[in-house]
Amino acid sequence: MRTLEYDIVVVGAGPAGSMTARNAAKGGARVLLIEKRQEIGASLRCAEGVSNAGLEKVGIKPDKRWVSTDVSGAKIVSPGGKVLKIDEKNAGNEVGMVLERHLFDKAVAADAARAGAEIMLKTSAVDVIKEDGIVKGVKAISYGEPITIKAGCVVAADGYESQVARWAGIDTALKTSDITTCFQYRLTNIKHEREFCEFVIGSAAPGGYIWVFPKGDDTANVGIGVLLSKLKKPGEVKMYLDKWIKSDPRFSCGQPLEAIAGAVSVSPPLEKTIADGLVIVGDAARVIDPITGGGIINGLLTGKHAGNVLAKCYQSKDYSEESLQEYEDLWREDLEDKLYRNWMAKEKFLTLSDKTLDSVMETIAEVGVEKVTVYNLLVAIKDRHPELVKEFEDLL
Ligand SMILES: Cc1cc2nc3c(=O)[nH]c(=O)nc-3n(C[C@H](O)[C@H](O)[C@H](O)COP(=O)(O)OP(=O)(O)OC[C@H]3O[C@@H](n4cnc5c(N)ncnc54)[C@H](O)[C@@H]3O)c2cc1C
Repeated sequence: MRTLEYDIVVVGAGPAGSMTARNAAKGGARVLLIEKRQEIGASLRCAEGVSNAGLEKVGIKPDKRWVSTDVSGAKIVSPGGKVLKIDEKNAGNEVGMVLERHLFDKAVAADAARAGAEIMLKTSAVDVIKEDGIVKGVKAISYGEPITIKAGCVVAADGYESQVARWAGIDTALKTSDITTCFQYRLTNIKHEREFCEFVIGSAAPGGYIWVFPKGDDTANVGIGVLLSKLKKPGEVKMYLDKWIKSDPRFSCGQPLEAIAGAVSVSPPLEKTIADGLVIVGDAARVIDPITGGGIINGLLTGKHAGNVLAKCYQSKDYSEESLQEYEDLWREDLEDKLYRNWMAKEKFLTLSDKTLDSVMETIAEVGVEKVTVYNLLVAIKDRHPELVKEFEDLL
């Protein structure tokens, strides 16, 4: 069997893996990025929305080659049809764009390549190699050939369905109440507002929401996320979306160009994202925002920190858990409080009736929120409906 040797092997060329590979390679490490698919960014399951603030935070400048549609705000629609319109004025940098994700993912991977990382497509990790309990690489199948990849550190960047961390002995199991099942059409020939991303909350999407993210003038990603624990039978999530689309005259002439199904974790993050010779980033680390279901920016952020810390570890050739602790500290400082707070808010909101959601929306519209972020919305709710945020008021 062929054996390859690298300082770092990154499993999965999504945003989190490519960002990790880029920053580690910049520090001089020999990095191999392996991707099981034959094309980076292909067969993506994503609504493709990101904020300007998020991209800025990870140091990526918007590039017209991978921006599909700039949006100037968001609309939140309550069950009773009340609309909270958040425009650029009070959403500021929180508004953003809808990506061409298949091009965006390739652009991040190309940056990793420019920094010196090597990329192997059609190469699927099938197990980790452990010596004396320490992760020392992965076994993989590359273009049908079994290979061994030895490395000082393995990066689990293999997304929501991550197996690498589990093979390494870390518990990544999710409760059904912490999984949102999604279904999305790319609908064309529709009449939507090109300038706004739309979110519909309430019983139309139990425990989740429906989204309309514009992809140009008459096309949009129209999707739904429903909490797995709220579903009774397979296919029900599609049924919820079809019912909603049918009820909205804007979509009466709409036709699908694409249909995708997928899932996101809406859980707290993993309790531990490092071990001797192992780092976990992105969806694999369960850093998706439990309220919005957005994981691109958080994935990039964990990748940025992981790559920077791995570059340091490369200098000392020390990939022990102790050396990797800095990664764990850095990403938790950035994200942990927010992820816990939003997870608790999600737990609370899924118990609310349509009537209460309508009244919450009214409250927010009345009070007005100077700058609209999930945090500020929760603070506004705390003022008028303290009972709704009692369990996590110390995080506000
Ligand atoms: C329907 C839907 C809509 C979404 N909409 C949004 C949105 O609008 N905005 C947002 O921010 N987030 C959204 N998300 C979440 C977002 O897609 C993820 O958070 C993001 O892709 C995470 O990046 P990642 O690099 O961690 O994982 P991924 O992008 O999933 O990348 C993991 C990579 O690892 C590869 N891989 C897996 N196993 C192996 C293996 N054994 N060997 C080699 N390679 C492997 C996969 O092929 C994949 O390329 C959505 C998710 C879904 C399901």
